[in-house]
Amino acid sequence: TASLAESDPEIASTIAKELTRLQDHIELIASENIVSRAVLEAQGSIMTNKYAEGYPGRRYYGGCEFVDIAENIAIDRAKTLFGCAFANVQANSGSQANQAVFLALLKPGDTFMGLDLSAGGHLTHGSSVNMSGKWFNVVPYNVRPDDQRIDMDAVEKLAREHKPKLILAGGSAYARHWDFARFRAICDEVGAYFMVDIAHFAGLVAGGAHPSPFPHAHVVTSTTHKTLRGPRGGLILTNDEGLAKKINSAIFPGLQGGPLMHVIAAKAVAFGEALRPEFRAYAAQVVANAKVLADTLLKAGFALVTGGTDNHLLLVDLRPKSLTGKAAEAALGRAHLTCNKNGIPFDPEKPMVTSGIRLGTPAATSRGFGAPEFAQVGAFIAEALDGLSSNGEAGNAAAEAAVAAKVGELTRRFPVYGQ
Ligand code: PLP
Repeated sequence: TASLAESDPEIASTIAKELTRLQDHIELIASENIVSRAVLEAQGSIMTNKYAEGYPGRRYYGGCEFVDIAENIAIDRAKTLFGCAFANVQANSGSQANQAVFLALLKPGDTFMGLDLSAGGHLTHGSSVNMSGKWFNVVPYNVRPDDQRIDMDAVEKLAREHKPKLILAGGSAYARHWDFARFRAICDEVGAYFMVDIAHFAGLVAGGAHPSPFPHAHVVTSTTHKTLRGPRGGLILTNDEGLAKKINSAIFPGLQGGPLMHVIAAKAVAFGEALRPEFRAYAAQVVANAKVLADTLLKAGFALVTGGTDNHLLLVDLRPKSLTGKAAEAALGRAHLTCNKNGIPFDPEKPMVTSGIRLGTPAATSRGFGAPEFAQVGAFIAEALDGLSSNGEAGNAAAEAAVAAKVGELTRRFPVYGQ
């Protein structure tokens, strides 16, 4: 049969261009990574053809003997990796993993608490534009205005007042550790489930570079494609057999039909990689690199939300530089540094403008960047953004071109995918 290039040159050339972008730019989006060739191969495999509704050994389709093996391996490796008793590896995304927990544990109209989107929570943690915010009574908690850390006293007060059925920790733009033990104590006091969404820092937990949500959490959700460096997808973990049964039923038949068996095979491969000693070194390097980037930016006069980072990401407050997130993202993009504009807590700007950018170290660490390279990245960011006028639209062409050239030198020293 014809290759992709022969059969569909239009898409083949678009993928080739995306490959070049990935190779020649420095990826600083905190939720992205660069997967191994082995993960790519499994995800691009013939297991995409297979229908396998149900769970290993209990399928609604014949011919599942080999996809059962792949799914069982993925489950076993996930349990070993996170030190828990049950894993569901079928969720198609992080959002779907969260939806499954809500379907399993809540009824429409029930109250739950999650970190406010504007303080670093995720859309699926109760935002008014998301199903989680439309179908449930959401009581958001926030960070303290002075140090931008989660206000645990306020969490306790809100929980006592509103008696939520579930409290959700975890977020998309929070650079600090979470007080899992205190969250659990609050949950126990008010009779709530404690759910942790580790999507962002799952790879750090797996690699021993971040505290584990277990034994505190009743249920843990994650994506598999961020710091964990697997295929795009979701994951649900628990130690409670009763909850595991409810969660399995919520995923299938509650939310999904046939699971993506090629993706599950790729999850198994990624979990296998994460069990190796090299992954522990990787996770530690991701955190060390984030600290180097943070220090470099602070020295260059940038402000950081919470003043620094404990994990793989940092949220830069651009107000001292009189820049918006929108202008900074565009300027850095022209300099071949990819990141995303991101609201900061109590942001005066609109969501499409923002006062911040979010930066993460997982992807560039995967291509081999260490501390010296991240000190360079910090200097590149400062060079590209300094001198950018406050409206930023015109950019700072000379500095951006100079940085893009230096990015080219650096990326060629750390090739990816046969560059
Ligand atoms: N949970 C958190 C904390 C996230 O940051 C994200 C993605 O950004 C998700 C869930 C959703 O994952 P997905 O994009 O796979 O639906």
